[in-house]
Amino acid sequence: MAVEIVNPYDVAVAQFDEAADRLGLSQSMRAILRKPKRELIVNFPVRMDNGDVEMFTGYRVQHNINRGPAKGGIRFSPEVSLDEVRALAMWMTWKCAVVGIPFGGAKGGVICDPHNMSRAELERMTRRYATEISILIGPDSDIPAPDMNTNPQIMGWIMDTFSMHMGYSIPAVITGKPLAIGGSEGRLEATARGVLVVTREAMQDLDMNPADCSVVVQGFGNVGSISARLLHDELDCNIVAVSDISGGIYNPKGIDVHRALRYSKEHGTLKGFPDSEAVSNAELLELPCDVLIPAALENQLTARNATRVKARLVIEAANGPTTPEADHILNDHGVTIVPDILSNAGGVTVSYFEWVQDLQRFFWAEHEINNRLESIMSRSYDAVRRKSEEQECNLRMGAYLLAVARVAEATEIRGVYP
Ligand code: GLU
Repeated sequence: MAVEIVNPYDVAVAQFDEAADRLGLSQSMRAILRKPKRELIVNFPVRMDNGDVEMFTGYRVQHNINRGPAKGGIRFSPEVSLDEVRALAMWMTWKCAVVGIPFGGAKGGVICDPHNMSRAELERMTRRYATEISILIGPDSDIPAPDMNTNPQIMGWIMDTFSMHMGYSIPAVITGKPLAIGGSEGRLEATARGVLVVTREAMQDLDMNPADCSVVVQGFGNVGSISARLLHDELDCNIVAVSDISGGIYNPKGIDVHRALRYSKEHGTLKGFPDSEAVSNAELLELPCDVLIPAALENQLTARNATRVKARLVIEAANGPTTPEADHILNDHGVTIVPDILSNAGGVTVSYFEWVQDLQRFFWAEHEINNRLESIMSRSYDAVRRKSEEQECNLRMGAYLLAVARVAEATEIRGVYP
């Protein structure tokens, strides 16, 4: 067997190439869309609490901005690399196109271990990173948002830093902010709410009754934990296992999600949660269940474990959780996969609403946000399903065909400058 592609950028390009082949894109269009438009690397010093100065490396990559300003989150993690950020930026381009919101794709990241930094260190690092990337970001050019290990407070520091430099408040420079400074109702839950909508639609297509379905969720951050809660509360699904970085907890009779949320908040981990069996994150993916929701990192479903996945339906709440090889194996085994660029697009969709509200200085009620999100997500799911039926391909390819065609059309119409 050939060596499996696991470099996220190679994965993203391989997925794009497959879609480009099917669409019959010209060599020049293919060459344009394969490469990120801009890549900024910043190395910057931060004073730590003990007085020492430490150097950090961060990135901001814009993949394509032909459909609108660049949009995409910022991730803080020791695993961040330029290739990871490039891949995530490219996925953002397709994600915004698949749900039809007027943004291009971008992503940022800083190599750091936020769990081993004090709040003051985190704030100084965030503000300095924001300053370093301020040559790219702005309400009309590039609008960041939260991603792994970043949150509304961190968005607030970035908004404040950018605004301080300009001399007045510019809330639309970033989304996922706290409500008090121009954040949007519903943004915190938005990605999970999108996951809920596509899960419900996919279950309907597969004749699965939500109340009879057991669900395993990998990851207990913003997306994983809220998805588990909403699937339990609003679809009556039986959540049988959840996990965080310390590992998973499993109970075939069902996990009390609200209790798990409280436990995790109180103890900082799910480890030791009562009435459950401890499982590793690897074991978790192979547990018997109807629906599997990877909501953590890239490369979780690989050629190594794909044959042992028991779920009938995989909802990719994380970005890039499935390698191309695992994707083929799962397809061959008849597993339906709702791809990341569709499944987790609820976050950026409400980010779009937040940006529009900030620009207009006119704010909407939570039910308006949720209704609009719901209709964009179900309409997009429907369009992807119809495309995949029409083209006799899986949902991932259906989503790529729609998204890449939209970005290619915008790129074609704008033409090559000069
Ligand atoms: N980080 C999220 C994502 O991967 C949200 C991006 C945004 O809201 O701009 O889609």
